[in-house]
Amino acid sequence: MKLLWLQAAGCGGCTQSLLGAESRAGVLAQFADSGLDLLWHPGLSEACGDEARAILQAAADGRLPFDILCVEGALLRGPNGSGRFQILSGSGRPLIDWVCELAARAAYVLAIGTCSAYGGIVSGGENITDACGLQFDGDQEGGLLGTDFRSGAGLPVINVAGCPTHPGWIVDTLLSLALGALRAADLDAWQRPRFYTEQLVHHGCPRNEFYEFKASAQ
Ligand code: SF4
Repeated sequence: MKLLWLQAAGCGGCTQSLLGAESRAGVLAQFADSGLDLLWHPGLSEACGDEARAILQAAADGRLPFDILCVEGALLRGPNGSGRFQILSGSGRPLIDWVCELAARAAYVLAIGTCSAYGGIVSGGENITDACGLQFDGDQEGGLLGTDFRSGAGLPVINVAGCPTHPGWIVDTLLSLALGALRAADLDAWQRPRFYTEQLVHHGCPRNEFYEFKASAQ
């Protein structure tokens, strides 16, 4: 599966979190081993400037097929709905326009982190940038893409929420998609994968075994 990653209005902390994923060879090698081909990421790919924009344009036009769109950071709709508070560098076009075009081409759309899922900290206070999430505006359904949005595979936006989101949740969600094992019924009312929202963080902690076996530090 081919994967595109965009960063909207956020702190980049969710990407930093991803890089901390438990993986012997590194998370990007794990992606490759799992059949996930990272076409472009603004912070992890070599391509930048014209080269990067060419990749995004080809993906938006349908000349470069891809499967998964990951969006990190809130979507800025201001001022006055123009989206011009955040322009994709060198393109002259609001990032929200790119997101809408690419989302329409993707089999799966993932909101990486609470900003992208619900607006998060970026939409706090007076929210003068009119920030929102991909399919939620705070606790209200809608957001940038609207309530009725469904990706090519028929799913709503998959909200891998958390601030920052846990690297294991990103990796497990992507690997579930690569296996064809994530369906709409596997999402909770907030469109988050149930595999991490229906258990305590404590139980999902990779260090929980130390607790279970009472292997405490002295
Ligand atoms: S969800 Fe939190 S960590 Fe992720 S981009 Fe937003 S502010 Fe940063």
